[in-house]
Order: sequence, then C-alpha cells, then structure tokens
Amino acid sequence: MAQRPLIQLPEFSNVSTGTLVVKEPLNFWNGARVRPKDAKSAEPVYEPATGRVLCDLVPCGEEEVDQAIKSAHSAFLKWSKLAGMERARIMLEAARIIRERRDEIARVEVANNGKTITEAKVNIDTAARCIEYYAGIAPTLAGQHIQLPGGSFAYTRREPLGVCVGIGAWNFPFQIAVMKAAPALACGNAMVFKPSPMTPVTAVILAEVFKEAGAPEGLFNVVQGGAETGTLLCYHPMVAKVSFTGSVPTGKKVMEMSSKGVKQVTMELGGKSPLIIFKDCELENAVKGALMANFLTQGQVCCNGTRVYVQRDIMPQFLEEVVKRTKAIPLGDPQLEGTRMGALISRPQLDKVLAYVDVAKKQGAKVLCGGEPFAPSDPKLKGGFFMSPCVLDNCRDDMTCVKEEIFGPVMSVLPFDTEEEVLQRANNSTYGLASGVFTRDVSRAHRVAEVMQAGSCFINNYNTNPLEMPFGGYKMSGFGRELGQVTVEYYTQLKTVVVEMGDVESLF
Ligand code: NAD
Repeated sequence: MAQRPLIQLPEFSNVSTGTLVVKEPLNFWNGARVRPKDAKSAEPVYEPATGRVLCDLVPCGEEEVDQAIKSAHSAFLKWSKLAGMERARIMLEAARIIRERRDEIARVEVANNGKTITEAKVNIDTAARCIEYYAGIAPTLAGQHIQLPGGSFAYTRREPLGVCVGIGAWNFPFQIAVMKAAPALACGNAMVFKPSPMTPVTAVILAEVFKEAGAPEGLFNVVQGGAETGTLLCYHPMVAKVSFTGSVPTGKKVMEMSSKGVKQVTMELGGKSPLIIFKDCELENAVKGALMANFLTQGQVCCNGTRVYVQRDIMPQFLEEVVKRTKAIPLGDPQLEGTRMGALISRPQLDKVLAYVDVAKKQGAKVLCGGEPFAPSDPKLKGGFFMSPCVLDNCRDDMTCVKEEIFGPVMSVLPFDTEEEVLQRANNSTYGLASGVFTRDVSRAHRVAEVMQAGSCFINNYNTNPLEMPFGGYKMSGFGRELGQVTVEYYTQLKTVVVEMGDVESLF
C-alpha cells in the first residue's frame, strides 16, 4: 500500500504541546520512508517543551547509507538531464506545497525543536521562499562563450557535481535542509541529507514534499544518525560534495574526512559575533536590535550578536531598557501564538548554558536578569528545558562568556569608549560569522562594516539575513556560502570546451 505523507496522518495534524508521538520511519530514499534495519541502537528524541519522548532515533549503518547514496545517484542521472525550466517547475510546486502545509510543518518543527510557533512559521515561509528563489535561478545557469582567432571559439559549461551530502544542525532543522537542497537541486544535483539526531522529524517531510511535487525518486533523501552515520557519508566514494552546518570541532572532522576523497566542502560553523552600539544610535532600535541579536530560538542561533559593545555614555539607558524588555519576554508553551521564547533543545544544552552563567558570575559578571532554570505554571511543561533569558553586565573581553559560543539566551554587555578601540576588540575573536553596528553616522557605519572580520555586517538592525544575499563565515566560522546567487558556484563545476574551426598546426 502506498505510504501516506506524514503530514496527512492524524497524529501530525493539529499538533499541540505534548500530543505528538512519531512511530513512522524517518529515513527516506528511493521515494519512500524506510524502516531502520537494526532498531537495537535506538535512542530517544525529546520534545523540548515537555521533556517527553517524541520518537526513537535509529542511526543508519553502512548498507543503508549506501542505499540512500545510490538512490540519489540514479535520480541525479535523470534530474541533471532536465532543462532548468523543468527543474524550476518541480521546485515551484514543492514551494507551493510547503506554503499550503506551512502551519502543520511549523507545529511539528516546534514539537521537535522547542522554538516558538511564531518563529517556526517564519522559518517555514523562508524555506518556501528559498526554494522559489533557486527555482528562479535554475533556468539562468549558463557558461561563457569566448571567440578565438580564425573562427575558433571556446565555451564553459556549468555542470552539477553529482550526489551532494547535507549535514544539518538542530537549531533550524527544516530551513537548513532547504538551504542546502534548494541550490543543490536547482543546479541539477541530488542530495542525501542527514539531520541532527536531536531533530530528525521535519527533513523527511521535506523529502515527501519533493516527491509529491514530481521530483524523481531519490532526488532528496534522508538518512538518520549522528557522528557515525555522518562519517559514512563523508567517506562514501560516490559523494561529490559535503555541505556541513554545525560546530567548529565537528566541521574540522568533516573537512578532514572529505579531504580523503578530495570532495568539495562548505562549512557553516559557529560564531561569537559582536554588536557595536554607538552613542549616536537611535536607542530604541538599538535595544530592539540587541534582543533580536540574542534571543531568537532561545539564543541558539549561529550568527547571534552575543558580544554587545555599548558606548559608555549611553550604557545606563541601554541597560535599563534592555533588561526591562528581556524580563517582559513571554516564556512558555512554544505552540501558543503569544509566546516569544520556548525551550532549549535538550537537558544537556540547558545545563551547559546555565553552567556558562555560573562561570560568568565567578569571573565577575553581574546578572541583571534571568540565567536561571524556569518552570512554567502549566503542569505539562514541568519537564521542559526552559531557562529565563539573561543579560550579563560587568563583562570583560577575557571572560569565558565573552570568548566562547554559549548557544543559549545569554547576552554579554561590554562598555567601550572609542571607535578604534571597539573595532580592535570586536575583531579579536577566532570566529567571524556576523557583526552589527547601530549608529546614525553613515560614514561610520560603512567604516565599521569594512573593518569587521565577518561574513555579514548588519547596519541598524540584526539577524535580518535576506536570502538573496550570501551567508557564511570568515576565520573559524567557516567558508563557502549559502543563499544568494553565489551559492551556484558551490554546487557546480565548470568545464571548458575549446573548438577548433581551422586545421591543426602541429609542431611535430
Ligand atoms: P554539531 O557539530 O554537534 O553537529 C552538527 C551535525 O554534525 C549533526 O548533524 C551531527 O550529527 C553531525 N556530526 C557530528 N559528528 C559528526 C562526524 N564525526 N561526522 C559527520 N557528521 C557529524 O553541531 P550542533 O550542536 O548540531 O549545532 C550547533 C552548532 O552549529 C553551533 O556551533 C552553531 O553555531 C552551528 N550552526 C552554524 C550555522 C551556520 O550557518 N553557520 C547554522 C546553524 C548552526
């Protein structure tokens, strides 16, 4: 009997906190969900808002990874032959289906990730737009034509790479899968995607969407698992490229493994980004910007501006306003429309973030608000991984909370006096993912943007990330780019064809 898409099953419609239990298999290749071969190594996956088990995660082994990659390869042979317009048509249909089921997909994302429904809906909308954007690019892929003497000429062909692997982090599960799949598919590649073992559910929904939209079986596949499954993917000889999103230590391993097969890699890694607020800023916008830079997805965002440098003259007003607004953030059931902060991804992540706050206190930081475990009044949320958003004052550049990526709702505020001083301090990091500046001085804004050693700089806002623009890191935050037109270069290779119209002039 044909499988019904997950999102059409009764348990997936109208998901609210504490209701979803996923029993269906979460692997997907050859156009269908695939039951794990060996359920012995199953591990529980939790619903962050309740601490309840949502499903089991069974990692794919060698044989399963091989099947998924072969399935992708056979789809690649068909897909890469299609005209860009044909690929675009199928991608646009996928985007339409995502828009149609946006609310259901968002609720499942919330159940698995703990972020608020408001943010999850934005993420799913962004995913649909991302597919539309790359569908628009698919028919425009072209090479260059050069005339040579004597009527001869040469041209380049922009060709797909083949089977691309995507390895995702848990903070934007559906969106990360789409940000890798959309450009890869637009360029004529097929993909095997491995979500984080903590957020395995929505990637398979994406696979079903592509199938329903008319993509050949095997075009977008999902294998579940953690480090071992990821290792199998990186070493597989039929894989042409690995696009990785995750932490710096794992990124280094993925690069090393991929280098054995001389595979291309894109590295979207962590960050500890600076946000610089000058005294000539529009203060209310700067405060709102600082909140947007720190508290989306419970602070678990790679490009967050967690080192907030504030010019000393406006520090008291800034702190008063930022603390007032932080304390007022509605925290609780992430499936409710009015909630603005949900639960962290896991108990260990919550403990890790709380430990960072403790270390900060020991090193001399002053907690102005939050930084504690939070127990919402709703009894079903008692086991959830909640903490109150935290603002730290009295921070110094040498403190752990200022140097390391915390990946939780913790804002470190640091005073500065001059532009020259703050630029030097802001760049004093091994990371370089993003940066931000609030000022009314146009020249200063662009001076800062030029000097920042980071892949993005937001002027008078933060975390806006238009998907028409490239996103990626400097320094240890990675290389290669996602989003924007340039990503086509990371999912294609160029072939030069030289055509002789005359006779061969031989030296021999
Ligand atoms: P992680 O490095 O622990 O895991 C990322 C992915 O790698 C997961 O799918 C994991 O299963 C897989 N993996 C782990 N070991 C592997 C191995 N040996 N071989 C192959 N794959 C392996 O990261 P995380 O905790 O899931 O995510 C948080 C990190 O991701 C943060 O540092 C954050 O800044 C970063 N991040 C970066 C971006 C970006 O675009 N730059 C976006 C989101 C998250």
